Amino acid sequence: MSKIDWIAQEIDGLKEAGLYNRIRTISSPQGAWLVVDGRKVLNFCSNNYLGLANHPKLLAAAEAAMKTHGIGPAAVRSIAGTMDLHVKLEERLSVFKGAEATITFQSGFTANLATIPALVSKEDAIFSDRLNHASIIDGCRLSGAKIIAYEHNSVESLDEQLKANLSQYRRALVVTDGVFSMDGDIAPLDKIYEVCRKYDVLLMVDDAHGEGVLGKGGRGIVDHFGLHGKVDVEVGTFSKAFGVVGGVVAGDSKIIEWLRQRGRPFLFSSAMTVPDAAACLAAVDLLEESTELVDRLWDNARYFKAEMARLGFNTGVSETPITPIMLGEAPLAQQFSRELFEEGVFGMAIGFPTVPQGKARIRVMISAAHDRDDLGKGLDAFAKVGKKLGVI
Ligand SMILES: *Cc1c(COP(=O)(O)O)cnc(C)c1O
Repeated sequence: MSKIDWIAQEIDGLKEAGLYNRIRTISSPQGAWLVVDGRKVLNFCSNNYLGLANHPKLLAAAEAAMKTHGIGPAAVRSIAGTMDLHVKLEERLSVFKGAEATITFQSGFTANLATIPALVSKEDAIFSDRLNHASIIDGCRLSGAKIIAYEHNSVESLDEQLKANLSQYRRALVVTDGVFSMDGDIAPLDKIYEVCRKYDVLLMVDDAHGEGVLGKGGRGIVDHFGLHGKVDVEVGTFSKAFGVVGGVVAGDSKIIEWLRQRGRPFLFSSAMTVPDAAACLAAVDLLEESTELVDRLWDNARYFKAEMARLGFNTGVSETPITPIMLGEAPLAQQFSRELFEEGVFGMAIGFPTVPQGKARIRVMISAAHDRDDLGKGLDAFAKVGKKLGVI
């Protein structure tokens, strides 16, 4: 018996349950098509909503910045890692998002880990949507605050939990995903805000899948609901629609100032790299210049969903370009994904524990990078595999 035998047993268990992640390798830039494990396939998996991950303007901005600033920041933001590019990016993002201030992080994940423990601790409570993202959950755990889950997107459940528990704690934070990444539904942030106002508690939204997607020209969920100045903290990511990597927190300038003092990933992990910061600046330029990419993304999403419904597929409760194809059991979803790949379509199967048991699915990520011909090829493949496996 070795002290790591348990790992092999766990891995075997995952394989038997159809839950083992076989990780594919990409050898092309992100776009409508990818070279995956040496094969060119239609890309239905990436979060590259606007096709910016390989956009010439972002590439040119990154290259130009590397000539003047190098690559790495070589320090954390609070010591010697804050470059003029970071400052400029934060200034531009504040204007773009209509927020008092913003602060950038290395990723959306670290933005959550920085923000939640800076705002609440042991004497406090966090009211958290039951389906919140793993990085929110980890941020909540790190804070040491009491975590009280409310039912998914249920304002009534949130109100009940606040009423029943709030008096026992010093401070409280309500936190929700903006767009839920597995189902593509949107948090009722306007109603959640009303409840937060009633109880006078902090409100934080993690809009990773709404940044560059929701709101006017992709300005995010706060813009979508017209809640400027009302939501205390809006977390976003540059890793999805922005096509780069990084995270951002927008909100009240006092909160942002506090995060510069107490956000641990800001103080103890190096800054965003030069090409990342420069590419994000170019992404803001593009989004401010035109809504064309955001409009195309939504046109594509509406078209694809309508055609999938016509074919007889169940696309769940999605209100966004995230399109889950509900299949039920994980082995069926995995087989569906393999058959799609054989047809030249890269669509990821998602099962427990990422989604509940019995709710396995293929999650199709629509992008502005797709054209109608691409989407047509994808629909044909879904129709063929769906019939073969008796789903439609
Ligand atoms: C993807 C995602 C993150 C993580 O963002 P990264 O920038 O990739 O670290 C955080 N929160 C939510 C809701 C997400 O969907």
